[in-house]
Amino acid sequence: MPRLRFAPSPTGGLHIGTARTALFNWLAAKSLKGHLILRIEDTDAKRSKSFYEKSIIRDLEWLGLEWDEFYRQSDRIKIYGEFARKLLDQNKAYRCFCTPERLEKLKEDQYAAGKMSKYDNRCRELSPSEIEKNLKEGKKFAIRFRVNTDREITFNDLIRGRITFSADTIGDFIIIKSDGMPSYNFAVVVDDGDMKITHVLRGEDHITNTARQILLFESLGFRQPFFAHLSMILGRDGSKLSKRHGATTISEFREEGYLAEAMTNYLSLLSWSPGGDEEIFNIRDVIDKFRIQDISRSPAIFDVDKLKWINGIYIRKKSPEELADLCIPYLIRDKIISREDKENPEVMRKILRGAKAFRDNLKVLGDFSFYMKDFFSDVITDYSAESIEVLRLDTSKVVIDCFLKVLESRYKSFDNGIDIDLNEEQSRELINLVAENLKGQKIKGRLLYMPIRVSLTGKTHGPELPDVISIIGLKNSIQRVKQTLEYIKSNNL
Ligand code: GLU
Repeated sequence: MPRLRFAPSPTGGLHIGTARTALFNWLAAKSLKGHLILRIEDTDAKRSKSFYEKSIIRDLEWLGLEWDEFYRQSDRIKIYGEFARKLLDQNKAYRCFCTPERLEKLKEDQYAAGKMSKYDNRCRELSPSEIEKNLKEGKKFAIRFRVNTDREITFNDLIRGRITFSADTIGDFIIIKSDGMPSYNFAVVVDDGDMKITHVLRGEDHITNTARQILLFESLGFRQPFFAHLSMILGRDGSKLSKRHGATTISEFREEGYLAEAMTNYLSLLSWSPGGDEEIFNIRDVIDKFRIQDISRSPAIFDVDKLKWINGIYIRKKSPEELADLCIPYLIRDKIISREDKENPEVMRKILRGAKAFRDNLKVLGDFSFYMKDFFSDVITDYSAESIEVLRLDTSKVVIDCFLKVLESRYKSFDNGIDIDLNEEQSRELINLVAENLKGQKIKGRLLYMPIRVSLTGKTHGPELPDVISIIGLKNSIQRVKQTLEYIKSNNL
């Protein structure tokens, strides 16, 4: 059975690049009807943190990329030791007693001489008695792999074709560090071999590791998997994607209000396409079209505007009820409503109306807070300078008086707890009624709409007027218009 793995190191959150690797492994596992293994590579004890592991798992779950088996390298330390012992016994590896200081100096000297840094094999041929002596003295040692330099290493990358390295460039490398932990390359090969991985799909930054890993696969007697290396993801300016380009982790994108479906849809388009002009799709619907061989080898460009555009499309596919539910956590986070407000039917009514009114304007869920921020207080908190100018006009007073009458006559009952819920159409009718009443006085256009808007919001700009009324609701509209009339009076406008 095909077996693939996604092997993040928990030294940071789940980045765009690693998320794409996870997604492509998921797609490949599904399309090959195989298993996907999640393997946490946490042997770098200093840099690995369990909260990063949690955050990576949370993000993968959020993206909907499920796995069939789970392993953590720190739970498998004994196994790496056993395999290293085997290589030692077969003389395919040896103990290296060189101190970190010596190795550092060696590196510096090689650099200074313009040479590539490579272990100088000092401990390669220590005699059994020398080894015995060092061990007796309690000297620390690492275990190095004995590289046969007299050969080439070749593999057929499923995306890039044939790749060849000369083993001569590879020095005897460490497989077990002096603290007993396996090196990255060793742990990966022991795991890929032991877990019977058939396809290794990972970033191109690992290509040089692949050469070392092939040597280890051979020495350990494991069957070699297929390799495929994904190209880098660059920012729009052509440089490697980094913090400078804005959000880079999946958690950050979720916090801004991107939808998981939009994220996976967009990530799949970074170096792949299901063919044709199709750009908007659920990844579960394109599984059958996915082939590792079709992944492009040129770098992918991460274009946040395109991601936004795709996100907007997915937002518009939501029903207002679904959208309201999705936006509530953002309103709470932005302190526009409180947690308790979730039990308040009037607040929920406003949110649902808002979701209907603003669905087409949202690029990310977080935008909803911006559109809704003025609607939750019962009063107008402040009148803008332009709106005060509007209120000074005599015609404005006529309009606002008339608007209040229209609202009041529409209002049926104050007792039902929830406001009378006017939809956008019914709200438009109320405005039309005001227009009708004032026709004789030739008040229309801006002279009509501006005072209505100002009387409700204290501002001269904002969402469509019928939307404003339907979100604020009839009861609170009356309250706000009365407040505005008071304001005119007390300020002698
Ligand atoms: N743990 C490695 C990383 O996060 C991936 C190793 C691999 O896929 O072989 O870069």
